[in-house]
Amino acid sequence: MANNVIDEITARYLASHPKSKGHFEEGRKYIPGGVTRITTFFAPYPMYMESGAGAYLFDCDGNRYIDFLGNYTALVHGHAHPAIVKAIAEQIPKGTIYGAASPIQYELAKVIQSRVPSVELLNFTSSGTEATMMAMRFARAVTGRNIVVKMDGGYHGSNDYGLVNLNGAEKAALPGVPPGVVDSMMVVTFNDLEAVEEAIEKRKDEIAAVMLEPLLGNGGGVLARPGYLQALRELTAKHGILLIFDEIVTLRLDVGGYQGLSGVTPDITTMGKIIGGGMGIGAFGGRKSLMERFDPANPKLLYHTGTFYAQEISMAAGIASLENLDQPAIDHINALGEKLRDGFNAAFAKHGIKGQAMGIGSLAMVHWTQNKINAVTDAQSALKAAGALPRLLHLEMINHGIYSAPRGMFCISTPMTEADVDEAIRAFDSTLETLKPYIAENAQHLL
Ligand code: PMP
Repeated sequence: MANNVIDEITARYLASHPKSKGHFEEGRKYIPGGVTRITTFFAPYPMYMESGAGAYLFDCDGNRYIDFLGNYTALVHGHAHPAIVKAIAEQIPKGTIYGAASPIQYELAKVIQSRVPSVELLNFTSSGTEATMMAMRFARAVTGRNIVVKMDGGYHGSNDYGLVNLNGAEKAALPGVPPGVVDSMMVVTFNDLEAVEEAIEKRKDEIAAVMLEPLLGNGGGVLARPGYLQALRELTAKHGILLIFDEIVTLRLDVGGYQGLSGVTPDITTMGKIIGGGMGIGAFGGRKSLMERFDPANPKLLYHTGTFYAQEISMAAGIASLENLDQPAIDHINALGEKLRDGFNAAFAKHGIKGQAMGIGSLAMVHWTQNKINAVTDAQSALKAAGALPRLLHLEMINHGIYSAPRGMFCISTPMTEADVDEAIRAFDSTLETLKPYIAENAQHLL
């Protein structure tokens, strides 16, 4: 019976994606596994996209998807937003990157500075991975200390430091990350204030920074407990430790990011995704007295450069992106996010399945448990007990024309409408119906 469910869902996918299979086979000759980003691969093979327009993606097999992945939350305005297309189209004939200073670089910096409370000065990078790497190096340089405290399961890009303890549980790093890097990170449990207090008590003179996403995004969309961020702010300030917020995802939640929402101002903020309007980008910033270390006039100058940093085409797209992400636009995506979570939760209740859609604003995360998720380990144990369910949910939603992250993350973009969200809720409801026999056989704890 259960195998029938897996077979049925897979057969539906195979039948509607024959050309994608061809691309997959061809692509594998040149790229390992046919896909260069592990996070865009799923079995049996991913569909190969041809174009995007607004809230939709279109694959080579003629299928249309409502795009709830949004390039992992980067595409807050969906695909080919007219203002962003216009900004890029105007920049292209003038050159994509000058390899020199240009006004458009500080124009985007000015827009960001006007929005994000902690940012008085900022530097650009090409990606979030470089922004977080630089933020950690910066904290180590200005404090003269070696250790960065991060959260269990916290993701800060694919630099060596960010990969320490990516998947929760024990302190570990992916193969190839040097032991010295692992030793220079301390890992504590998110939402556990005592754990940070203990870490600081033990090694306060060695700790340069505490770094976290103000909500544990990749670790399961886990929200900070009331007072947690404020307490971290006070604790770090007391010991001369820098507080780094990784707002690469959470910046979309408010005009001023999560720090604008929570009123807690970090020393350093890392940014990316939405500030590039769909082009590659990253940035980190903080107060003037700290960031001035990057001023070439400073005798204690810190090093910061990259061939594609602050490329003009990303700057142009980023300005258009942020100008169109005003309060009404954020209210719109946040309201649709809430509607999506409510709809998913109602579907779980209707089918008597113990799951939940958590999140905040325009971000939603499906968990196969009704227990409270406070840390990555809670999310991981629910995931483990759910067997093939997350994978099957992802694939069957694709069969219904809904594209999301394989780990159950859904995000909203500004071109989405109530009708798009209703379609996703209907697809979710129907998918749960399909999955019920599998659950009855393999995951009875959810009934
Ligand atoms: N930090 C967080 C919180 C992220 O979600 C990501 C990307 N998913 C990064 C850093 C890395 O950004 P990028 O993929 O642009 O290198």
